[in-house]
Amino acid sequence: SLAYFNGRFAALDEPLLPIEERGHQFGDGVYEFFRVYEGQPFMLEEHLDRLYRSADLIRIEIGQSREELKGIMDELMQRSGLSNGDIYLQVTRGIAPRNHPFPAVPSSLSLTIKPWRELPPATHQEGVGILLHPDERWLNCHIKSLNLLPNILAKQAAVDQGCFEAVFVRDGIITEGSSANFYLVQNGAIRTHPLSNRILGGIAREAIQRIADAAGIPFIEEAFSPDELFAADEAFLTSSGVELVPVVTVHGHGSIGSGVPGPIAIELYRQYAALTRQPAQG
Ligand code: PMP
Repeated sequence: SLAYFNGRFAALDEPLLPIEERGHQFGDGVYEFFRVYEGQPFMLEEHLDRLYRSADLIRIEIGQSREELKGIMDELMQRSGLSNGDIYLQVTRGIAPRNHPFPAVPSSLSLTIKPWRELPPATHQEGVGILLHPDERWLNCHIKSLNLLPNILAKQAAVDQGCFEAVFVRDGIITEGSSANFYLVQNGAIRTHPLSNRILGGIAREAIQRIADAAGIPFIEEAFSPDELFAADEAFLTSSGVELVPVVTVHGHGSIGSGVPGPIAIELYRQYAALTRQPAQG
């Protein structure tokens, strides 16, 4: 494992940030999470696109070019010796005496690299339970901002109930998980909330959409209610970190479909694993 902050590489437990860093004091920043497979961050360009887009939406000018960011990520991978790992990257509005208006200072950049956070094999093989939870977030969920308090509170509520993930409900509609996108499968078609300010456009979601398109599985971007979820054949969630996890129960309701991972979730996960674990073609 290894950390980086504004030009300096250091051990993960070494103090690196001044106290008046706006990420620390205000959560005034954005982030990305990349999974690295055999030295290659999966869908690197898509993640960087989203990073610059998120920063732009909160009016942070990232002090590094794309090529500079890639260079720093490469150096982090080299120095850590990890060819498989998780890279966390965060950009904040910088270091300045605590005051709400934007300071005229350069943005800060911090990164960590760590070995993959492995899930128990049962997570993918047997599927997981979810807790439905009110979506108490703001209306800019498409921005990958550091402000994750509603997500953390919902996730902990799920964990307290023995569930793997909290899935948000806003205005009677399922939006997404606290740290993952969410899908149902009905009559052989995948359905998920459309891209909007109410969800984060996941990079794993984009990968799953491409896989579904190539496999001829309809990928329908249309929101659904909890009742529609309860009537679904299958459900699953995706993120860069957990890849694809089948959802087999809803807390307080019972099973989805037959209560075991369904054929479409299994096939999509197989193809996602094949895509990430072999070198990119062309
Ligand atoms: N939605 C939310 C709220 C998330 O935090 C995440 C994980 N970053 C996702 C969706 C999935 O995004 P990705 O596929 O890019 O990891």
